[in-house]
Amino acid sequence: MDDRPPRPGQTLAATCPLCGNTSARVLPFSYEFRGRPLRGVGCPKCDLARLFPMPSDEEIASLYSEEYFTACSDAVDAHGKRAYKDLAADGAADRRRKAVRLDRLLRGPSGRRGRFCEVGCGPGFFLAEMRSLGWEVRGLDISGFAARHAREVLSLEVTEGPLVPGTLPREAFDALLLGDVLEHLPRPREALTAVWCSLVPGGVVAVAVPSTLNLLSTRLGMAVYRRRGRSKTLRLPPYHLFEYTPRSLRAMLETSGFQVDRLRQSAVPLGKMGLRGLSVENVGKAVLQLLAHAGAFACNRGGDRLLAVGVRPGEGAGVRARRDDGPKGQCGREVTE
Ligand SMILES: [Zn+2]
Repeated sequence: MDDRPPRPGQTLAATCPLCGNTSARVLPFSYEFRGRPLRGVGCPKCDLARLFPMPSDEEIASLYSEEYFTACSDAVDAHGKRAYKDLAADGAADRRRKAVRLDRLLRGPSGRRGRFCEVGCGPGFFLAEMRSLGWEVRGLDISGFAARHAREVLSLEVTEGPLVPGTLPREAFDALLLGDVLEHLPRPREALTAVWCSLVPGGVVAVAVPSTLNLLSTRLGMAVYRRRGRSKTLRLPPYHLFEYTPRSLRAMLETSGFQVDRLRQSAVPLGKMGLRGLSVENVGKAVLQLLAHAGAFACNRGGDRLLAVGVRPGEGAGVRARRDDGPKGQCGREVTE
């Protein structure tokens, strides 16, 4: 039997959690995680990229210990050299701008504010911003440390727990935010069904994800690696279990019962790319990132940030009522407030 590791470009047997396709193509990157490789694989049918195999639920939960929010070490270097909690506490003006933009987006034509939930709210700074704009807010976060900070320091109603069926109350929110969360979840369709069930008919979900694979620079880099038969090993913990493109994000929302109202691309500012020095590679990346900005701005293409707005269809109190054909039967047991 051939037990050599699969090479980039080869196909292997793995069922796509989005479209059910039974084969996946090996991408030229992998994580080295607790002594075993987790490979990047992509579905040739629907574009969804993911890790294969997935880490276990216990392993994933262990990644979000207190150190995720407080440490600055290389071992927990999820956010550069500064602790997430400090990064989140800074940048008040930037956060305010983002909250105002989201507020406008979620209110829609009715202009009405209502009950807002942020899943993955971390220490709660953004949630507090939404509260100051007039929303009635609640949060959910997998980290007990972050949820406690939100409750005790910012007096927010934040529950600790994963986004799975049963952790959010049913038909309780007019709007919900998943900001840089969906790519961390091992079962995104199940999570989106839980979101669907927690929204009132006509309620909206805003989903923001990174989309590195949508960048021209990433696609060029991966083509070079594939051609040479090489693979890049990432030494970070595998925080991102999935990588979305505009196509796979849209399909993920639609198969979960949402109607996609908008899907907007943008690009990470050069100053936030963490480029150090003036090596040829960094200059090339900067030039390609400027092109990504232009492409995302002018034609909504080639950006490495995606923002999708999905509507739970149906007549009701929500801001954008439509025909209801979502996964009603899957909402399961009711969670009472
Ligand atoms: Zn697929």
